[in-house]
Amino acid sequence: ASATILKVEVDSVRLFPSVICLAFLLLAPFAATAQQPAHHWAIVLHGGAGVIERASMKPETEAAYRKALSEALAAGAAVLDRGGSSLDAIETIIRRFEDDPLFNAGKGAVFTAEGRNELDAAIMDGATLEAGAVSGVTRTKHPISLARAVMEKSPHVMLEGPGADAFAAKEGLEMVPSSYFFTERRWQSLVRELKKEGLPIPPRPAGAPPAPATPVAQIDAPDAHKFGTVGVVALDKAGNIAAGTSTGGLTAKQWGRVGDSPIIGAGTYASNKSCAVSGTGTGEYFIRLGVAREVCNLVQFKGMPLQKAADEVIHGELTALHGDGGVIAITPDGQMAWSFNTSGMYRARQAEGGKPVVAVYDDEP
Ligand code: ASP
Repeated sequence: ASATILKVEVDSVRLFPSVICLAFLLLAPFAATAQQPAHHWAIVLHGGAGVIERASMKPETEAAYRKALSEALAAGAAVLDRGGSSLDAIETIIRRFEDDPLFNAGKGAVFTAEGRNELDAAIMDGATLEAGAVSGVTRTKHPISLARAVMEKSPHVMLEGPGADAFAAKEGLEMVPSSYFFTERRWQSLVRELKKEGLPIPPRPAGAPPAPATPVAQIDAPDAHKFGTVGVVALDKAGNIAAGTSTGGLTAKQWGRVGDSPIIGAGTYASNKSCAVSGTGTGEYFIRLGVAREVCNLVQFKGMPLQKAADEVIHGELTALHGDGGVIAITPDGQMAWSFNTSGMYRARQAEGGKPVVAVYDDEP
C-alpha cells in the first residue's frame, strides 16, 4: 500500500509542473493585457514663471522661447511615443534646457551674490516614490542626470555641494569647469540686482570671457532675471508618472541658499496615487507651503480634479502668502494642468493624439 501511495505522490509531483505550464499558456495572454493596459502618454513642461509681459518682450526673444519650448516638447513626446519611460522623457527635455542659455538651469543659470553658479535639481518616480536631488552643484554639466543618478545609484535622496559633484564624477557624468556656466546676460543681471540691493559686486569669475565693450542686450522682461527654472511632468504608456525640476535658483541668492526645486514635496513631487508636480517661483514660499505635495494631497485625499487642486494651491494658498510662481501637473489618468499667479509662465503640453500647445502669457489658453 505504501508503494502505491508513493507512486500516486510521485505521479502528481510529475504532473504538477505540466498543469501549471498549461494554465500559464492558457492565461498568459490575459495576464499580459492585465499587466500592461494601453495608456496614452502625456507631457507638460515649464521654463519658469514671472513678470513676463507683451509690452516689454521683444518679438525675437518671444520667438526664441517659443521655439525652444516647442522643440523640447517634441523631443519629450518622441521618447514617450516610442514607449520610453516618463523619467527618460523628463531627463531628455531637462538636459536640453540645461544646455540652452535662455533658461535658468545648467548653462545660463543665474549667479549667487558671490558671483558663482550653484545649481539645484530633483527628479521623482511616481511608480516607486523613489527620488533623487542635488543642491549647490558647480561642476556637473547636467544636474538633472546627477539627481537621477542619486535616485538610482546611491542609497540617499539628496546630496549637496562638493560631495554631490564628487558623486557625479564617480558616476562618470560629464564634468565642466565652473566657468562653463557663465553667461554675460546673467552676469549683468547680477550686477544690476546687487547695485539695487546695495551689495558689493564680486570680481568677474576666473575663466569668464573679458567684459564686452558694450553691454549685452536684455533678452527678456525686466524682472525675469529672477526666474527661468525648468521642469517637466510626464505620463508614459506604462501608466507611470514622474516629475523633474532644474534651476540656478534666484539671482543674488546668498549664504548657500537652497530653493524649493530640489526639495521633494516643495518644488518637485510625483506619486502614481495622485499626481506629479514641478513648481517655479520664489522658492521660499513653495517650501513653506509644501506646494507640490499639497497639490497632490488635494487630488489624493479630497478627490479634486487636478486643475482645481493646482488653482487652489496657487491662487489660494500661495497668493494669500504673497508668494509668486506656478506649477505644472499631471495625473496617471492623463489630466494635465498648469496654474500660476504671475503675468506669464513659459510652458507647453501635449497628450498622445493631441496637438502641442505652447504658451507664454497668462491670457493664453
Ligand atoms: N523656484 C526657484 C528657486 O526658488 C526659482 C525659480 O523657479 O525661478 O530656487
